[in-house]
Parts: sequence; structure tokens; C-alpha cells
Amino acid sequence: MEYETVIGLEVHLHLNTRTKAFCGCSTEFGKEPNSQTCPVCLGLPGSLPVFNETVLDYAIKVALALNCSIQEYTKFDRKNYFYPDLPKNYQISQYDLPLAKEGYLEVDVDGKVKKIRIIRVHMEEDAGKLVHRQETSLVDYNRGGVPLLEIVSYPDISSPDEAYEYLSSLKSTIEYLNVSDCDMEKGSLRCDANISIRKKGQEKLGVKAELKNMNSFKAVREALAYEIQRQAGCLDSGKSVIQETRLWDAKLSKTISMRTKEEAQDYRYFPEPDLPPFIISSSKIKEVAKSIPELPPQRMVRMMHEYGLSEYDARIIVSSKEFADLSEDMIKEYPGKDKKPIVNWITGPILAGANSLGIQPHRLDIPGGIPELIGLVKSVEEAKISNLTAKAVFNESLSNGKACSRIIAEKNLFQISDSSVLDKAIDEVIVSNEKSVSDYKNGKSNAVMFLVGQVMRKTQGKANPKVVQEMLKRRLENA
Ligand SMILES: [Zn+2]
Repeated sequence: MEYETVIGLEVHLHLNTRTKAFCGCSTEFGKEPNSQTCPVCLGLPGSLPVFNETVLDYAIKVALALNCSIQEYTKFDRKNYFYPDLPKNYQISQYDLPLAKEGYLEVDVDGKVKKIRIIRVHMEEDAGKLVHRQETSLVDYNRGGVPLLEIVSYPDISSPDEAYEYLSSLKSTIEYLNVSDCDMEKGSLRCDANISIRKKGQEKLGVKAELKNMNSFKAVREALAYEIQRQAGCLDSGKSVIQETRLWDAKLSKTISMRTKEEAQDYRYFPEPDLPPFIISSSKIKEVAKSIPELPPQRMVRMMHEYGLSEYDARIIVSSKEFADLSEDMIKEYPGKDKKPIVNWITGPILAGANSLGIQPHRLDIPGGIPELIGLVKSVEEAKISNLTAKAVFNESLSNGKACSRIIAEKNLFQISDSSVLDKAIDEVIVSNEKSVSDYKNGKSNAVMFLVGQVMRKTQGKANPKVVQEMLKRRLENA
């Protein structure tokens, strides 16, 4: 049977405010357990929450960047449940009057732009963290009260790859806004997915499973792919899919049932009495809007116009803000109108070099910095060194910390275009490769490439292959 997949994602995002959402405790990650707590975030009787205005500014920023409409009238609610990571037994969240609704995020899927609609963006606080050690469970409340945004998409996503692109695009947008570090390992970005399948062409939605516990983008993609297979297997064998919450087990590469609908907790909400509803003025929204920087889609278009980048190159370059900033600096400093040579280096050896070191490209420590790199690319353009040599020099420079220009000088890697040097090498090659010479003369024009290769070997790769080829052809045709 052929099925269609329907996926909706719920993303929880830590905002990187200095202090928590409703008290003055620090939000710094990795501190001594329970060292960043106070009566408010511990929920001690008599303590009162005070809303951190920066949370609102950041939340509006994200909502606007996601093309949402900000609700004029909004309030906080208590979401009641009992769990040891939440000493108050309720979480301050937003229920029926969320901060923002009805937005969208544009996602590039196989070269086509798709709009994934967003249902709502609301503010809430995080709970503490349980640490399990053998027989004991410990709780760290440092995370309790850290501001979170919940971003809920419509079920507009139709494949694990699309889910991956949505998350990448969301992460990149948030990074441009500089309101979260989006680090999944630290729990700053967490994602739950609702997934169901239905017969192709069927209108009614299938029964969904909620997936939790995915702690990387890769895990999200794998968990969704697994779940499509599992649900299809159920339907193919005549069984029905049951509505349940499932956990992704990365070690076993499978999802396992956590609880079914019958066991699901029904949260009770009621308005937070200690935080009165409030109105967000249009002047506030305008003020926040002014602080939104150029976002990836606009930056992409601008860079295509300004520097003549292809859409493909531009998309790669704007995917992270730091990489885009670095790239733009390089492009600007590269002399000449045609920026293609430096762009090819950015999306080629620089990205590859960062990948092989397992770091983000903007963290690459290029010895001598941008001027050295530009010098290297120019040397290739001016045919002073070959492209192959330049790539090898660049990689060597990354691993031993020597500037490219120094490596080239020390090893004397300048390309040989001097015809008297090349003449001698060509003479020797012609004498010792009679067969290829006669092949060429008998019309096998490809034979010349073998001879070029021999000359390159003789000159340790330093000969200019274009010049060698021209010289060889001239010699063979006149001989
Ligand atoms: Zn506190």
C-alpha cells in the first residue's frame, strides 16, 4: 500500500536571557546543581513571580521573524501537573491566549521553497532536571524557571527530510536573532513530533503517535523514518495504529511505547493569578521589529544581487550567521568584480576543511586570516600556483599553523610557466614515450593527456598544465 506521511513539530527553545523568566536567578548553563535557585523558582509558599521583560522582547522577535501575528491581549496560565522536577506542581505557560499565532517558515525542499505554517508561539518556563544514578534520582532546579518558547507547526511536513529542513531553517533564523544558542545537547532546543500516515489520496488524518526524546536533528530524522515504517507495517498487516506517546531509543534505533492515550495526563489550566493579563502595544511591536536583523531569505537574495552568487552558493553561505558574516568579509575583500573564485573557495576547501576538523566553518583558524586566503586564491587566478597545489597548501596550513604564502615559498611550489624549463622536461618525455607520441600522430588526440601527465610528474606537479598541453601540441604537430 502507498501511504502519505503527515508530521507536525513542537519545538521548545531556551531563550538566552541573563536571568530566569520570573525571578532574578542566573540562567548560566553547567553551574553547581541548585546553586541558581530562589524561593520564586523553587515555588516556595508566599513567593511571587515578576515577569522578565526581556523574555517578552525576545519572544516577540522570534514571533515576528516567523511571520506570526502578535496578539494584542495575552496572559499567563498555570498548567497543573505533579512531577518531581516541578516543585510548584504547575508550570507557568500560556493556554488560550498565546503571544502569537498563524505564522510560517519557508523551507527549501529539494530546491523548491515550501511554507510550513505555524499554529502558535507561546512563552513558558522550563522545569528542573532529573538526574538518575543507579538506585537514586537527584533533581537540579537550576533549569527551573529558565524562559522557553514553544513553537508549534501545523501538520504541513510530509517527510523526515522536510522535518530536518524545517528544524535547520528554524535554528538558523533563531541564531540570526541571537536569542538562543539552539544547542540541542544542552537542551536549549528540544523537539517533539506528531506523526501519522494515511492511504495516499485519503483526506482523513491517520492515528498519530507523539515522538519524544530526540536530542539531535539526525535523531529526529531517524525517529520519523522508523515510525513511518512501523506504522505502515501495522496497517499493512491489518492492525490499527494506536494513539500513544513513544520515545526514541537512539541506541536501539527504534521508538518504544511510553504511554497510550488512556494513560495520557490531562492537564488542567487556569489563569495565573499572580501575573495579570497584559496588552502588547503596537509601538512595542514596532520597536522590537526594528531590532530584527536581515534574516537568511533576505540575505540570500541580497548576496545574489550584490556579488553575483548563484542561488545554490548563496543558500549554503547564509545557512549560519557566523559563516555568512565570514564569507561576506572575504567576498568584500577579494579584489576584482568577479567573485566566483573566492566563492568557490568558501563553499569548497573552506567548508571541507571545517568538516574534516569537525568544527563550524567560522571557527576555522586560517593562519594569517582572510588576507592570506585571498592571497592564495589570487595566486591561483594569476596562474602562479596550480589549483591542486593551492588546495594541498591550504590543508597543510590548517594542520600545521603556517601561513599559506610561507609554505609556498619554503617548498618553492610556484607553478612553472617558464618555457625553457618546460622545454627540457617535454624533450625528455617525448624521447621516452614513443608509443604515445605515435598514437597522437595517428590521430589519437587523447594521447597528449598522458604526455602532459608525464611532464607534470617530472616537475613534481608544478608545471602549468595548460601551458604544457599547448607546448606539447605545438611540438608534436611540428615534429
Ligand atoms: Zn529564582
